Amino acid sequence: MADVRVRGRAVRDQERGRPDLELGATVAPDRRSPPGRTGIGPGAGIGSAREADGGRMTEIDRMLAANEEWAATFPGPLPAPPARGVAVVACMDARMPLFPMLGLSVGDAHVIRNAGGVVTEDTLRSLTVSQHLLGTREILLVHHTGCGLQGADDSSFAGQVERATGVRPPWVLRSFIDVHEDVRESIRLLKACPYLLSHDIRGTVYDVETGRLHEVR
Ligand SMILES: [Zn+2]
Repeated sequence: MADVRVRGRAVRDQERGRPDLELGATVAPDRRSPPGRTGIGPGAGIGSAREADGGRMTEIDRMLAANEEWAATFPGPLPAPPARGVAVVACMDARMPLFPMLGLSVGDAHVIRNAGGVVTEDTLRSLTVSQHLLGTREILLVHHTGCGLQGADDSSFAGQVERATGVRPPWVLRSFIDVHEDVRESIRLLKACPYLLSHDIRGTVYDVETGRLHEVR
């Protein structure tokens, strides 16, 4: 944990004003599907089959093809209990590759992810299983800068979903203003959870601009 630092107030204030990811924003065009790329390289067999049927090779086709390569070099089965006895609760943000950025290998840790990396009923359910059935004892929280939930509005989001689908979600978005304070709140919620065997919990904020993890005290 030598590279973990506490962030300064200046950085925090800077972050607060950043509307990086707006939940209402339109979806960016698919950057990974340029014309002519389908059916080339790994997984060409699956792609060719799809295209012969007149279908487009989807991202899922590409992932299934990539799995064929993974399975060909599969190192063999591992025990289910995480080797390092740790569970990570993190935001689902696509810019956080948790295993390499935390020095983890396959089989080392449980990773529980959701929008914001917030503590929900299901987070508690998963952590309780992780500790009681699979022996983990340490919990690391990983939130990050530029999160889509930062500065969003729970009610506006529910309204957006309702306008688009006709149904208002019964759950709350769990947006927040200050990412560090949100980490502290998550730590408080976990420490208050009566089902856990260990409350050895630490929280961090990952800087998506630098790749550095900062511990929240
Ligand atoms: Zn996020």
